[in-house]
Amino acid sequence: MIAAIDLGGTRTKFGLVQAGRVVSSSNCPADAQGSLATHLNEVLTRLRALCDEQHTSIAACEGLGVLSTGLVNSQAMRVMGTNGKYDDAVDFDFVGWAQQQASLELRLENDARGALIGEWRYGAGRGADNLVMMTIGTGIGTAVISEARVLTGPHFTAGNLGGHILVRSGGRACTCGGVGCLEAEASGWALPELVQGHVQYRASSLRGSDTLGFHELMDHATRGDSCAADVLAHCLRCWGEALVTFIHCFDPERIIIGGGVMNSPEPVLASFRKTVRELAWAEEGQVDILKAEHPDDAGLIGAAALFY
Ligand SMILES: [Zn+2]
Repeated sequence: MIAAIDLGGTRTKFGLVQAGRVVSSSNCPADAQGSLATHLNEVLTRLRALCDEQHTSIAACEGLGVLSTGLVNSQAMRVMGTNGKYDDAVDFDFVGWAQQQASLELRLENDARGALIGEWRYGAGRGADNLVMMTIGTGIGTAVISEARVLTGPHFTAGNLGGHILVRSGGRACTCGGVGCLEAEASGWALPELVQGHVQYRASSLRGSDTLGFHELMDHATRGDSCAADVLAHCLRCWGEALVTFIHCFDPERIIIGGGVMNSPEPVLASFRKTVRELAWAEEGQVDILKAEHPDDAGLIGAAALFY
């Protein structure tokens, strides 16, 4: 049994994983603007309670796999950089913490890479050696497996910065300092501004919506709201064009899509396949575009898989 923690931007998931299967899991609010050290200690307390429920203990686990947002050096087990989340993560000694607090060996990886590893070993990526994964949510996470190796690069950014592929010259400003990044043009955090800046927003049914995420956008677009339909079409096009860039860079056999937009996968996947057919320099059927098989658990499964 491996204990696993997936530190997200809004929720942190944690659980116990055995042979690619989540035995038990739960989640709690993240505290990305606060201290990582404090948050991790809280999560560990919750993990201990989870162990109690399963009539086991942290000490009985073989290791602790942790996924973090930001740039992660998975060899030195260090976070190299964050983008406004857990600013103390960069100086944090994950290995020492796991040893002192739980007497456990630790593995650390970036969250998007961890989710892809989970899908590669136990999900939609099984049996393939060349994979791209894109998780579309508040931000956009990407990772690449090329010729059966998780791409990292010398600065641990390889395949990982897909949210910051430029999709629009002179476009919207991004949190990374770039302009026209995929995240700035089509992510959950950019969505309220995209909608409110649309010329038809004043007449849109979205004006009365308390929350504004992709779920609401799709819902209102389906019901015929032209502002929602137009912004959704823009986002689908941006994501699709980014996938074409990934195909041209990495020649994947499969592209795995995760995140909240996959709650209604068929129209999204159909749009991606159409954009790829139109724009990619690739033969028909060369690359499959699939829904993640473990949309909720790939991170925990992947964090545990760092041990084997
Ligand atoms: Zn950016």
